[in-house]
Amino acid sequence: MRRKLIAGNWKMNMTPSEALELIEKLEGLVKNDEVDVCYCVPAIDIVPAVEAVKGSNVAIGAQNLYFEEKGAYTGEISAAMLTDAGVKYVIMGHSERRGYFGETDEDINKKLVKALEHKLIPIVCCGESLEQRQQGLTLSLIRDQIRTAFNGVSAADAADVVIAYEPIWAIGTGVTATSEQAEEVCADIRRYIAELYDEATAENIRILYGGSMNAQNAAELLSMADIDGGLIGGASLKTDFGSIVNYNK
Ligand code: PEP
Repeated sequence: MRRKLIAGNWKMNMTPSEALELIEKLEGLVKNDEVDVCYCVPAIDIVPAVEAVKGSNVAIGAQNLYFEEKGAYTGEISAAMLTDAGVKYVIMGHSERRGYFGETDEDINKKLVKALEHKLIPIVCCGESLEQRQQGLTLSLIRDQIRTAFNGVSAADAADVVIAYEPIWAIGTGVTATSEQAEEVCADIRRYIAELYDEATAENIRILYGGSMNAQNAAELLSMADIDGGLIGGASLKTDFGSIVNYNK
């Protein structure tokens, strides 16, 4: 039985002091024994956020990492730095990083391998643009993204990875995929993992939906058989996040 994961992606929001205020505001609202909860915070907020969530059910995630072990990579953050700081999850391949910073499937593959080497739980994002959906390319494009990202990753490691299906047209737009659209893609991702690996790996891997998930639509999306949680942008900065975590109450 896969545990649901509700992960907030704070993006480039919240200074360190604002982060502490938000964590305090959400503290009593995000308790749910049946759900894993995580805040993927800006790099500068990681250290105070890890301290602030100590003893609670909330884990801290990063929004990026660099795939080299260490060295002359000004401005980058390594997997070892993240684990030493107490980070549990790390997002990679978010469409904003692909779009604004040129992150490729090959980069994501290197990041995935490095994160797994350091026992971080990767949240690998994939998703299609509106144009690609209209051209009927969604499933093949996402299969391509997944195949390249998982290149060289063993079945044992793959089972621990989290995949987030995030249609680009639904991110930050207020337009949510219908539960049927989201389920169709998440189910196909699971089928593809079974083809790449085996049924057991496909059964264990967690697949999230992301794209304008909110307190109103979360319960329906999360009731779908192959949707194991949500990656939440805008609504993760508000008390609504507590309602999403408690979608089943
Ligand atoms: C995201 O950035 O991963 C996301 C899903 O954003 P939003 O919930 O704001 O659409």
